[in-house]
Amino acid sequence: MDCIFCAILAGEIPSKKVYEDETAFAFLDINPFHAGHTLVIPKRHVADLTADPQALAEIAPAVTNVAGLLLGKLDAEGLNLLVNSGSVAGQEVFHLHVHLIPRYADNPGMAGLARRDPDIDLDAVYRRIAG
Ligand code: AMP
Ligand code: ZN
Repeated sequence: MDCIFCAILAGEIPSKKVYEDETAFAFLDINPFHAGHTLVIPKRHVADLTADPQALAEIAPAVTNVAGLLLGKLDAEGLNLLVNSGSVAGQEVFHLHVHLIPRYADNPGMAGLARRDPDIDLDAVYRRIAG
């Protein structure tokens, strides 16, 4: 099976790990909407939200923990939680993932989810979270 997120879990592709527990793994999104944009994934391969009725519940504690971590480490004042399920919804990687997108006062509201921000320095953000 050719799954980029399974390759990240196997250490075959590098990632900026934010969090890990028994069932879940979280890492910075390589093309973030906002600084600290993180993906939380199950450690087992589940293709999408509907493929396994347990998968979202399994990673729910990790999602909550990562949300707290991001809010605590960054100057974020809120965050968005997003799952794209199906290509028509924008899903590009078919290994279930929850997007956690920290939000900042200078760019508020749903309109702030319209574009990726190519100016974000991933290494600098990562130092603030994991350093
Ligand atoms: P989706 O469109 O919901 O399937 O989201 C897939 C996400 O994975 C996108 O936001 C991509 O920027 C992100 N992504 C793809 N490859 C990588 C990678 N190697 N490391 C981190 N994030 C990635
Ligand atoms: Zn996978």
